[in-house]
Amino acid sequence: MVLYPQSLTMAKAVDRADARQVLEWLKDLINGTWENRDSVTPNYEKKIRPSVPQFYSWLPRTNCRECGEASCWAFAAMLLTGKQSIENCRPLFTPEYVKEREAITGVLDALL
Ligand code: SF4
Repeated sequence: MVLYPQSLTMAKAVDRADARQVLEWLKDLINGTWENRDSVTPNYEKKIRPSVPQFYSWLPRTNCRECGEASCWAFAAMLLTGKQSIENCRPLFTPEYVKEREAITGVLDALL
């Protein structure tokens, strides 16, 4: 979800009920933040936005399909939208890809 001054975008809504639930959650978050505004310290750092090419570059790129996706690119796209789990790429959990796995999990953890 991205919040702009006059609008927002939402990528994970399954249907209207799901979208309403997310909007209620957002409304509560905004109202809670407003109520606690005196104790909130703004963070003006620009967030790094993860991308499919970035995730793809960290994957083994063998298109082995062990994850159930047609390609590593498809897996990267699904991972970024939360429709796939990093654990489903078993080759990434071999010693050869420790740094790449840590890079992906670092970005995914930051998104939570
Ligand atoms: S399991 Fe990993 S290496 Fe194999 S296709 Fe999926 S993302 Fe690529």
